[in-house]
Amino acid sequence: MKFNTKTIHGGQEHDPATGAVMPPIYQSSTYAQSSPGKHKGYEYSRAANPTRTALENNFAAIESGTHGFAFSSGLAAIDCVLKLLNPGDEVVAGDDLYGGTYRMFTRMFEKYGLKFHFIDMQESSNIANYINDHTKLIWLETPTNPLMKIADIEAISNIAKAKNEDILVAVDNTFATPYLQRPLELGADIVMHSATKYLGGHSDLVMGALMVKDADLAEKLHFIQFAGGGIAGPQDCFLALRGIKTLHIRMQRHCENGMAVAKYLEKHPKVAEVFYPGLTSNKNHEIAKKQMKDFGGMVSFKLKDESEKAAFETLENFKLFTLAESLGGVESLVNHPAIMTHASIPEKEREKIGITNSLIRLSVGIEAIEDLLADLEQALS
Ligand SMILES: *Cc1c(COP(=O)(O)O)cnc(C)c1O
Repeated sequence: MKFNTKTIHGGQEHDPATGAVMPPIYQSSTYAQSSPGKHKGYEYSRAANPTRTALENNFAAIESGTHGFAFSSGLAAIDCVLKLLNPGDEVVAGDDLYGGTYRMFTRMFEKYGLKFHFIDMQESSNIANYINDHTKLIWLETPTNPLMKIADIEAISNIAKAKNEDILVAVDNTFATPYLQRPLELGADIVMHSATKYLGGHSDLVMGALMVKDADLAEKLHFIQFAGGGIAGPQDCFLALRGIKTLHIRMQRHCENGMAVAKYLEKHPKVAEVFYPGLTSNKNHEIAKKQMKDFGGMVSFKLKDESEKAAFETLENFKLFTLAESLGGVESLVNHPAIMTHASIPEKEREKIGITNSLIRLSVGIEAIEDLLADLEQALS
């Protein structure tokens, strides 16, 4: 199956009881057994639920994996991966991560004896300096949030595996989605998503996903999910599955609009810098072109006026773009990373990596491009 068919049919079968084309929302915590331990594959919904199974099979299909897992949030999915590790283990992670991921690593897992190295992943060879006998996990985000830096998934996986085959490479694929890039095909072991964003696509649920291509790793992750309990509920699984059916056509429009917005901003006299991997001026453009089908709907930019006042005025001016956290829905959103999504990163750390007060992040939706450009025009004027 081609990707655009997998989004609709991947891992799906009609409901065996009724032939229902969409899987019913199995709003049941428990399942009848004919004799102790004898059941039809479902015993208690923390372990498995048929609506969740339908979604998890689709998750696996769209990321070219063998197993998928649906979690109560993106962070619950990351938490599950980190629990594969033991005290003393080390993680090499990007230095421009989603704020909540950084917060989890530093404020939750450091105290359990994990050590994190946050490094610039744009230069693949960089990671070799941070891999030692304790290294168990490489954590990548590409494109990164909010500066749209690109890491070469294939090159980094090769370097890590050459050092030690057992090092796991995990990629947060939330920004790109499998429509644009499929890390498991490029050598990664684990793909993670905040399905809250593009996979769900309609800003109506909070969910996380993991996809893998190895049965042993799948068994370990399933145990942690089952024992830890961070599962997605059946209603949300139904919504996510419905969302994914249009992922490819939504992404196509997100990409077209994202490129048009980036090109518009690049020429705007009040804009100092635009962060979008699709621009030929972007320093990571070549790597992005190599591993991504297109460049997505996330665009960040810096105003020439570096004051907080100028950024706030612009943000308050938007009419069609909604000032809100999150991203990846059909509607366009605008966000101020320093104060909103990335407030959990200490100010000094933020300034160092470039998340300044003048930085604005757009999640470009799938509305008519003329209306989006008109809103940008009036907000910046
Ligand atoms: C939103 C987000 C997360 C966290 O996911 P939740 O569903 O909010 O828990 C992780 N990574 C990225 C890149 C995100 O955008």
